[in-house]
Amino acid sequence: MIPVKGYAAHNQQDPLIPWDFERRAVGPDDVEIDILYCGICHSDIHQVRSEWRPGIYPMVPGHEIVGRVVTAGENAGKFKAGDLVGIGCMVDSCHECPSCKSGHEQFCEKGQTVWTYNSVERDRKTPTYGGYSNKIVCNKDFVLSVPKSLNLKGVAPLLCAGITTYSPIKKWGIGKGHKVGVLGLGGLGHMAVKFAVALGAEVTLLSRSENKKQDAHRLGAHKFCNTQDNEQVKPLKRYFDFIIDTVSAPHDYDWYMSLLKDNGVHICVGLPPGGLKLSGLSLNRAITGSSIGGIPETQEMLDFCAEHQITSDVEVIDISYVNQAYERVLKSDVRYRFVIDMATI
Ligand code: NAP
Ligand code: ZN
Repeated sequence: MIPVKGYAAHNQQDPLIPWDFERRAVGPDDVEIDILYCGICHSDIHQVRSEWRPGIYPMVPGHEIVGRVVTAGENAGKFKAGDLVGIGCMVDSCHECPSCKSGHEQFCEKGQTVWTYNSVERDRKTPTYGGYSNKIVCNKDFVLSVPKSLNLKGVAPLLCAGITTYSPIKKWGIGKGHKVGVLGLGGLGHMAVKFAVALGAEVTLLSRSENKKQDAHRLGAHKFCNTQDNEQVKPLKRYFDFIIDTVSAPHDYDWYMSLLKDNGVHICVGLPPGGLKLSGLSLNRAITGSSIGGIPETQEMLDFCAEHQITSDVEVIDISYVNQAYERVLKSDVRYRFVIDMATI
């Protein structure tokens, strides 16, 4: 077994505290990684606080992981000590069903997707622990290669915020000629802006925070709309082909869908507790969701980021700041992703 230092939540209300634990010894198909940086996703907060379902405690959150390979098992193929690598929201699946074979491991048809934390291994009993820790051991098929040309701190959030927005943008063919509204300027939102702009779409940032206007333009958005101001909203009624909804709290889907053209598509990537409530009266508009992205597409996204020099805008923090960071995320006061420097553990 490998001794590991981490930060864990021991229940849904208390702050995260330092917690030592062990990971499995490196097997033939495994890669052992020293974690350098880990992003803080709003999903970490939902799960630590048992907002989606009862959490598995102690819980070591974190699924936006970058690090360096220390040891590679004998079947770990392309990976060797010293490689820069990433791990996102999944660490294993059945590897055999049509979904896994086609690179959509998040939809494993045997229900064996193993999430990076707050989950159990395929033995159905060993808990998984995430990236707020100094080491991780992971099956090689769930380890991504990180392009050397990218700033590592800004790469960590690509492993969740990046792929979660890249995947639906590619699936729906969003690009030149499309008017896209990105709803919410946080971790996912700022990545959605960068990808949609890079692919040639006209991008409008829809936010409740007037003070994010300048940043929205700096990130590449062509327009900004403060959704609290009717005068700014009026010209955008029936305006968008797509809305990418990254909102983390319950909100009025019907109202935002009124900003879509009649055949527009509202893409939910935000996962507010309580789920989605809709009147069903939103004309011909469509509403759909998207769950992270599979491993091959995550590698494609990282390579796309290298080609376009895209990374996340981050605030790097010491791990002891994690509980304050959570409070700031809840106030939408992060520009635009907190990333833990694991050297501080
Ligand atoms: P975040 O950084 O906190 O950003 C969420 C943004 O939503 C905020 O910055 C804020 O933007 C906006 N917002 C918050 N409360 C709102 C409200 N009541 N009404 C309208 N807008 C509101 O969170 P994140 O890490 O980007 O995650 C966003 C959501 O995506 C979370 O629910 C997370 O669990 C989910 N998620 C889903 C997947 C997936 O696979 N589908 C993957 C990762 C995360 P403004 O200040 O600009 O208004
Ligand atoms: Zn996430």
